[in-house]
Amino acid sequence: MRSFTYQASPVRVVFGAGTLSRLPGEVERLGMSRALVLTTGNRQQQASQIAAMLGDRCAGVFAGAVMHTPVEVTGRAMVRVNELKADGVVAIGGGSTTGLGKAIAFRTDLPQVVVPSSYAGSEMTAVFGETRDGVKTTQSSPRILPETVIYDVELTMTMSAPLSAMSGLNAIAHAVEALYAREQNPLVSLMAEEGIRSLARALPKIKTDTADVEARTEALYGAWLCGSCLNAVGMSLHNKLCHLLGGTFNLPHADTHSAVLPHAVAYNASADKQAMARIARALGAADAAAGLFALAKETGAHRSLQQLGMREDEIDRAADLAVQDPYWNPQPVERHAIRALIARAWAGAAPLG
Ligand code: NAD
Repeated sequence: MRSFTYQASPVRVVFGAGTLSRLPGEVERLGMSRALVLTTGNRQQQASQIAAMLGDRCAGVFAGAVMHTPVEVTGRAMVRVNELKADGVVAIGGGSTTGLGKAIAFRTDLPQVVVPSSYAGSEMTAVFGETRDGVKTTQSSPRILPETVIYDVELTMTMSAPLSAMSGLNAIAHAVEALYAREQNPLVSLMAEEGIRSLARALPKIKTDTADVEARTEALYGAWLCGSCLNAVGMSLHNKLCHLLGGTFNLPHADTHSAVLPHAVAYNASADKQAMARIARALGAADAAAGLFALAKETGAHRSLQQLGMREDEIDRAADLAVQDPYWNPQPVERHAIRALIARAWAGAAPLG
């Protein structure tokens, strides 16, 4: 076994169906008496219900979270935090809402309870990306890590089959890259393999029946494990590509992950055969990259960057950006091969075998 360093995460996790009912107790446990509830505009009604549930412990609602955490939106939320003298935040929604909670905690160190409604995994990490004048930069600090995460399976039941598939593949991508990370360690690899296995088993069942509670439970469990991997070790080529494709060409986050992942894995296949064997085993497939492509196809996730709105003449610019300041990657990052990878993902072709 290789030498390794492992750092446990202090996030408290409450998991199950109906666990949202535990919110008042968890808010009280953190000593919040004036919580600000955060969400997106389309979840205003749910936020009001949560405010009612918290009663005197809720100071107000800010239902203005949007994708990519623009600093102007955080600025407006900070005005509410200060006006209401909020002493904590409760973020309920997908990764965009979680991002706003983190942006507030980064500025104030207020405690956070996050109630995720998708499989994005951001709730488990001490980093977030924020956008200023169209440029997304990553902030990292222990202040950003939520104190408590309530995973309530019931909140995820409203995700459509394609949204579930793409959000699930976004989660799987964290675990895949954890298995070949430079800082890989035995405990994180266990979580990664189990996370991939859980999601790979659950997503086809969700495609068949979005109301399958058992499959939803298994998927959310997998998403938690995958998010934990994202916080524990560094990410490589796949995450770099998705970050730049999303930021530069404004492509949707989870959809981009599902289109790129099989190709990034194929790119790295010969560099870490042990990781590939574990990914394939978790998928129940003969080959890691082909297995991921098949899972995306079976579950109705996007497999083509062209379908997401990227133009063919943008492939070269993407390849140029990918080789500038690359993340560590098990396989050397070379422009010619990266261009070919992006071109295949753009066209929705099968990954190279
Ligand atoms: P999101 O929050 O924007 O949600 C995507 C879409 O799904 C939205 O339209 C939303 O309304 C909808 N949605 C979410 N939950 C739903 C539900 N239960 N039912 C029906 N619709 C639902 O995005 P996301 O995919 O959840 O997360 C992506 C964002 O999170 C990106 O901005 C990404 O950068 C960030 N992220 C950050 C980290 C990190 O560690 N910092 C990790 C993963 C993702």
